[in-house]
Amino acid sequence: MAEYVFVPRKAPSLGVEASTALFPVRRVFCVGRNYSEHAREMGHDPDREPPFFFMKPADAVVAAEGEIAYPPLTDELHHEVELVVAIGKDGVDISPEKALGHVWGYGVGIDLTRRDIQAVAKKMGRPWDWAKGFDESAPCSKLRPVSAAGHPGKGSIWLKVNGEERQRGDLADQIWAVSEVISYASKSIALKAGDLIFTGTPAGVGALEQGDTVQAGIEGVGEIVFTVGKR
Ligand code: MN
Repeated sequence: MAEYVFVPRKAPSLGVEASTALFPVRRVFCVGRNYSEHAREMGHDPDREPPFFFMKPADAVVAAEGEIAYPPLTDELHHEVELVVAIGKDGVDISPEKALGHVWGYGVGIDLTRRDIQAVAKKMGRPWDWAKGFDESAPCSKLRPVSAAGHPGKGSIWLKVNGEERQRGDLADQIWAVSEVISYASKSIALKAGDLIFTGTPAGVGALEQGDTVQAGIEGVGEIVFTVGKR
């Protein structure tokens, strides 16, 4: 049997609440805009565009604690607090009705974004990767297993910087619910155990500076606090 040319790194991982176990991270999918300022309408909305996705590398995922690095090549590092869905069961072409059965747990994540680089990418019609997929760009809480806490269909999602509230929304305001996001993603790629999905951020994104203390939380899911490293 062929051997690897060097010992492969261990998979990036996240802690699990009330456990010493680790959740191995495989891939990271992120949903673009997924909250409306308006109350979510019931039923069909002809103006809804299908959700779109971008990705971060798995090792962008780090524990949201201590100090998170301020990345190079940006003057505009933005916070986006998001519900993170941890997939625990493989699936392809999953129906919305069966989608939640593929969720292992949930976490509170920050989709850190080099907004200035993203603005240039948008203008030039270039990919977002360099704006979204840098080192430590996906700090995340420990995961709360579905087996312990079920599925959070609603509940406040918020973020404070140095004690001042910047973002607040409710999971019920997501344009695309978790079950729909999973279903859509699984029509395009085979979802696998270990995949994470960052499900989009409510209004109020803004810039972080070195030394800032970031607190964030989602009702029924968890809370995080970390500081931003030196530029
Ligand atoms: Mn985001």
